[in-house]
Amino acid sequence: MLKTKKILVTGGAGFLGSHLCEQLLKSEHEVLCVDNYFTGNKANILHLLDNPRFELMRHDVTFPLYVEVDEIYNLACPASPIHYQHDPVQTTKTSVHGAINMLGLAKRVGAKILQASTSEVYGDPSMHPQREDYWGNVNPIGVRSCYDEGKRCAETLFFDYHRQHSLRIKIMRIFNTYGPRMHPQDGRVVSNFIVQALKGEPITIYGDGSQTRSFCFVDDLVKGMISLMGSADEFVGPVNIGNPNEFTIKQLAEVIIDQTGSKSELVFNPLPSDDPKQRRPDISLANSELNWFPQIELEEGVSKTIEYFRKIV
Ligand code: NAD
Ligand code: UDP
Ligand code: UDP
Repeated sequence: MLKTKKILVTGGAGFLGSHLCEQLLKSEHEVLCVDNYFTGNKANILHLLDNPRFELMRHDVTFPLYVEVDEIYNLACPASPIHYQHDPVQTTKTSVHGAINMLGLAKRVGAKILQASTSEVYGDPSMHPQREDYWGNVNPIGVRSCYDEGKRCAETLFFDYHRQHSLRIKIMRIFNTYGPRMHPQDGRVVSNFIVQALKGEPITIYGDGSQTRSFCFVDDLVKGMISLMGSADEFVGPVNIGNPNEFTIKQLAEVIIDQTGSKSELVFNPLPSDDPKQRRPDISLANSELNWFPQIELEEGVSKTIEYFRKIV
């Protein structure tokens, strides 16, 4: 029989966090959602508010937090380049001070703690596809560094608390994930293109659109996350979770134009600096350790996401 746990989700009012809270509640757990609403909002979790096992707290993880929980999913951090670059110092503080506070909390209460890390720890990768033993190619002083280096430092902190204080940790390196509840102004590529296509506005391709990404649908991602948290204590990661099917950004635009039936034109804008040229996860570790494999391919996931945006745009 399933034991009900008290679970803290930081960043729980965001895109991934809201789906995670929903799934954890379905498994009868108690969920404490902590968020400062920087990029998330109450609308994402409105449907959970009248569940007695769900609690919402406005709190910034750069400040200490004293609560009693069994597990912590640390997702608090803006994920879209335009948002994490808006206040880069706060982004680093969120990753680094946020990790220290959540690790201190986990240490005090003996909780297991999972970090939402990112494929950005590989930077502009020279190994393709990216395996977990690749150390990455990250610019330490560029406009993306607040996010990339913040997340790398958080991984360091997780491993040091594990070695020094025997904390039970899990590190998940998330590759580009999309789906319903991305904010229409989130700025990431899938939501941008869908919103532009639905409004008949030009589709803004940065650069020539030959750079690649591999897109994972949110439901697959959340299953991987919960499965990692439930894995044996000896398995700490880091583990890549993402969909290995790789597309150029131009191909993504074509899929979205095709599925929306939009008359939008493609426009080519300058490529932002340090934009990685290619990205695809090697997921053999997730496959062997967690028996995890994504089920939803781009066409199906994009179609569900379009359905969501049709209702709100
Ligand atoms: P999101 O921006 O929708 O969610 C982030 C949430 O964290 C928001 O609700 C935001 O308000 C909250 N937050 C930010 N700073 C905070 C702070 N200081 N204190 C408390 N809450 C704070 O983004 P998302 O896509 O849901 O990403 C969730 C996590 O997953 C992030 O840590 C992100 O780095 C990681 N991730 C996501 C992806 C992806 O493709 N979606 C890829 C790699 C990593
Ligand atoms: N902390 C927290 N909640 C707790 C315990 C600790 O937010 O329940 C924070 C606190 O700010 C502390 C940090 O986590 O500074 C790191 O805690 P740790 O015990 O590792 O180190 P300390 O700084 O207390 O020596
Ligand atoms: N991108 C784009 N048009 C947009 C938004 C993003 O061409 O309107 C590109 C961006 O330059 C990058 C890719 O799409 O090459 C993925 O960007 P996103 O911000 O979604 O995530 P990233 O993987 O760069 O963190």
